[in-house]
Amino acid sequence: MAFDVSAINPLGFGCMRFTGREDNTISTEYTSQMIDRFLEAGGNYFDTAWAYPNSEAALREALVKRHPRDSFMIATKCVAWGNYCNGPEDLEKQLQESLQNLGVNYVDVYLMHNLGGVRTAGFEKNNAWEFVKSVKERGLAKHIGFSAHCTPEELEQFLQDYPEAEVVQLQVNYLDWESPSFRERECVEIAHAAGKPIIAMEPVKGGLLANPPKAVCEILDKEMPNDSYATAALRFAASAPGVAITLSGMSTTEQVEDNCRVFSDFKPFTAAEQDAVKRAQKAMEESGIVPCTGCDYCAKVCPQGIGISGSMTALNYYINFDDAVAAAYQLGFVVRFNAGKKLPDECIRCGACEDVCPQGIKILDCFDRIAEEIVPHRKTSVLMK
Ligand code: SF4
Ligand code: SF4
Repeated sequence: MAFDVSAINPLGFGCMRFTGREDNTISTEYTSQMIDRFLEAGGNYFDTAWAYPNSEAALREALVKRHPRDSFMIATKCVAWGNYCNGPEDLEKQLQESLQNLGVNYVDVYLMHNLGGVRTAGFEKNNAWEFVKSVKERGLAKHIGFSAHCTPEELEQFLQDYPEAEVVQLQVNYLDWESPSFRERECVEIAHAAGKPIIAMEPVKGGLLANPPKAVCEILDKEMPNDSYATAALRFAASAPGVAITLSGMSTTEQVEDNCRVFSDFKPFTAAEQDAVKRAQKAMEESGIVPCTGCDYCAKVCPQGIGISGSMTALNYYINFDDAVAAAYQLGFVVRFNAGKKLPDECIRCGACEDVCPQGIKILDCFDRIAEEIVPHRKTSVLMK
């Protein structure tokens, strides 16, 4: 059966950021509310992964157990980088755990998770594509493909190496569209020319574009007064050539409603809006904000359990508001409630986190800046004592 994009609502529910409780753990009741609103608005595609903590189990409780299996599609993924795969048998173990976590006997889409850079070697070493093909042959997945954060040259190679891939999941957002390190436009054009439906991920860059610096807000307020900052970013991604599904990692019912409203009466980006986001991108770059999406892939490989994404949040707070005392407070707060619980001063500088970061962030340089500009204010910040 071919991958039929006409049967899928163009807004996909990204399930990496389910929360609902004050301590950032997942509430089944709240997730059910979000999912019900999404389904009522016509949504039917859910993107999760074996590597997203507790996400598959939350989907089982809030979606699979409560709605007919043929009323939704689930995509999940296997991972072969970091310490998660020490042989092909670990891939099979991940698959079986995914099916069990989700409470299903098949998934609609099964993907290799996050190809590109040094991460690709793990998939090659473990013969992961042959495994993914076998998942489809055994009737445990209806469709197969891969997600990637990669260069256009790498993508060309993946398309050659994995010709049976039916879908390609790529990062698409206005911040990285023309950036020399991400070259997203080229990647999208390559996948589109190869005839692969594109699933756009990180359209809001892990929330960064939903709450951008003041200079960016001023541009978007003027040019797109009817869009929230998040929906402006979603519309940009959904307007890109070949994009069939745009994933939004929603964490609140308000976000679900805001996003569904935009897609129920979808208006593609105009030329004037394209020009506005080009200026917004420049303003964002000039702000120096760290482009961390909070994916926490770094936390999965850090031997010290450092709160890396939380530290980036604190650094961005400092950059955005120029308030080192408040950022010092944030540093103590966010590392306690995010993946990794230790402060950057316990980092042993092994570099493992930088190797897997799909955003190419110079994490150690960021730590240096935190040490120099934020940590000296710990004593001033009463809550950090
Ligand atoms: S460099 Fe530091 S933060 Fe990064 S993985 Fe190693 S110990 Fe963890
Ligand atoms: S530093 Fe990189 S790997 Fe870590 S959470 Fe941010 S974007 Fe993800």
